[in-house]
Amino acid sequence: MVLNRLDIDALRHDTPGCAHRIHLNNAGAGLLSSGTLRTMTEHLDLEARTGGYEAADAAADRIARVHDDLAALIGGRASEIALFDNSTRAWQAAFAALAHTFRPGDRILTGRAEYGSNVLTYFQAARRTGVEIVVVPNDEHGALDTGALAGLIDERTKLVGVSHVPTGGGLVNPAAEIGRITRAAGVPYLLDATQSVGQFPVDVAAIGCDLLAATGRKFLRGPRGTGFLWAAETILPLLDPPVAEIASAEWDGDEGFTWRPGARRFETWEKNYAAVLGLGTAVREALALDPAVTGARAVALGTRLRDALDDLPGVTTHDLGRDRCAIVTASVAGVPADEVAAELAHHGINVSLTNREGAQFDALERKLPPLVRLSPHYYTTQEELDRAVTVVGRVAANAR
Ligand SMILES: *Cc1c(COP(=O)(O)O)cnc(C)c1O
Repeated sequence: MVLNRLDIDALRHDTPGCAHRIHLNNAGAGLLSSGTLRTMTEHLDLEARTGGYEAADAAADRIARVHDDLAALIGGRASEIALFDNSTRAWQAAFAALAHTFRPGDRILTGRAEYGSNVLTYFQAARRTGVEIVVVPNDEHGALDTGALAGLIDERTKLVGVSHVPTGGGLVNPAAEIGRITRAAGVPYLLDATQSVGQFPVDVAAIGCDLLAATGRKFLRGPRGTGFLWAAETILPLLDPPVAEIASAEWDGDEGFTWRPGARRFETWEKNYAAVLGLGTAVREALALDPAVTGARAVALGTRLRDALDDLPGVTTHDLGRDRCAIVTASVAGVPADEVAAELAHHGINVSLTNREGAQFDALERKLPPLVRLSPHYYTTQEELDRAVTVVGRVAANAR
């Protein structure tokens, strides 16, 4: 593996959770580093001692840098970044800014792996505006079929919305190939990169998307309650942000207003600055380690875990796609997923479960029961994977 450039012992030493649990739930929430934790507690302490506004003033330079750090992470400009309290709100803001133009007969093209909340929002838009939702079929490996997308995209298409990595399963959708198709057609492309940002390198220019939403707490290892939107400068004039308020818009002194420059027009005034600063630390730590290096290790660990689980009698993995990542979904014959997860938890191993609501189009197609979702990260060790595989193997053996 390409892992020797990382000092895993030191990284684990700087991750308090590693001392207590085997954390295979980075697709749920990654473990905070000591540095990120310290940034947050120090700012909370400053707020308590000096006042919330006063603490924000004192940290103004560091707060302003968070936009720069996020832009550096995904290859955009700081002026194209808007901070949110999660990925869902970031995605919704981008979607709503386009959706107000949808008319009956217009179409949204999306994939089978699209995230559950996005799908519900498409349904709402269909109900409100008559826009039609078209689900692009998968290729033979289970990723979005780019040939089918190229055939479906036309003048009726007002948006292509894709989940880069679905919430349940190791699939990596061909984001850049999709970008070449949307570019050629001149159709806005909204990428849900919630599971990919922080897991492996994500570059908006290489992908060719117009809008990208991501969260802080998952593979990026930021605090809970953080997220962001990247909106390309070129698409901003086409967007009507959903919330006009004093940070997103400027009163013109009469009965009108103008949007603030750049993506700030999507933000609201109030923020949890301890969380914002913590996100900044997490992003700088990710950049310092190099997402190409950490990503190679995380994906390699995912592959090893998937292969080891697949080798166990009575255990099946269910991850689609030719390109796969650090998220592994598995089932044990005769044992419900929650019982497998409970047994893992009993051994100090954190995992989570998938369900139908995580990706409804996929659920309708594959009709899978809830699965155990195991998601290592670069700070996971081979020994930790071995322990998880041993526990799952024992559960499977006892059921046979
Ligand atoms: C978790 C997840 C989201 C939602 O992110 P939040 O920060 O919880 O709003 C969106 N898309 C995908 C693919 C996810 O896995």
